[in-house]
Formats: sequence, structure tokens, C-alpha cells
Amino acid sequence: MERTLSIIKPDATARNITGQINTMIEASDLRIVAQKRIRLTQSQAEEFYHELKDKVFFGSMVQQMISGPVIVQVLEGENAIAHYREIMGATNPAVAEEGTIRKTFALSIEKNSVHGSDSPESAKREVGFFFSKTEIVG
Ligand code: ADP
Ligand code: MG
Repeated sequence: MERTLSIIKPDATARNITGQINTMIEASDLRIVAQKRIRLTQSQAEEFYHELKDKVFFGSMVQQMISGPVIVQVLEGENAIAHYREIMGATNPAVAEEGTIRKTFALSIEKNSVHGSDSPESAKREVGFFFSKTEIVG
């Protein structure tokens, strides 16, 4: 069993499709073991995405991430990290596989509806960024 951090992004909360995304997550055999709706501050978003701070899109992406509420969630399952990346689909929805969350819902490479951790190290850091042990109930 493995855990990964997922974020349903502001473009998705704005369109009221968080339930549809959760349905796709649960249909793929991942279990939502923690979840909360929050509004990120600019400094939280910058810290969360610090590895991308030199990218040209960083400022715009951070503004997008703080433009509305997000749902942060911990997903649990077999190979949860890689498995969630698979059902999310590619960063750019234009090239994402049919049936993935991003192919189905994303509006653009920036407004791409969901985040998922990309490695065991990031998953550990990102889950700890938003949740304490007592908030994850399996
Ligand atoms: P992923 O979310 O697939 O792991 P990255 O970690 O590379 O992708 O990028 C983080 C987020 O930054 C993406 O999900 C997307 O919202 C945004 N992003 C990535 N590349 C671009 C780009 N070329 N232009 C605008 N926004 C981007
Ligand atoms: Mg990433």
C-alpha cells in the first residue's frame, strides 16, 4: 500500500466537478483517506511548488493555484503514486490519453484540474505539507 497527495485545482472547483473527479479516482481503486477544501496563500503555493521556481510559467501557475479553493486529498492504494499519475494523464491535456482525468476535464496545460505527487519522496513531503497523521484515517 502506498499514499500520494492529490490536489483538485481551482479550475475544477470553479466548475463544480470535484465529485466527478472523485468518482474517477474511486473507480480506479484508489481510496480517498483524507480530504479538505482550502484556499492556498501565495507563499504556501510558492513553497509547495518550489522545485519549479525557475520555470517561466511559475508566477502564472502560482496565481492560478491561488485563484480559488482547492481540494487537497491523500489517496491510498497499490502503487498509488504511479497509478494516480496514470489516471491523471499527461500534464498537457492535448496529449493526455483518452479516459484520463486531464483528457476529460482539463482546460489547458496550466488549468489542468489535478495535481499528483511524482515520486515517493515528493509524496512524503506533499502529504506532510497538508496533513498531520491524525487527519489520515485510512
Ligand atoms: P505535473 O502537474 O504533471 O506534475 P509539472 O510538475 O511539470 O507537471 O508542473 C506543475 C504544474 O505547472 C502543471 O500541472 C501545470 O499546472 C503547470 N505547468 C506545467 N507546465 C506548464 C507550461 N508549460 N505552461 C503553463 N503551466 C504549466
Ligand atoms: Mg509535478
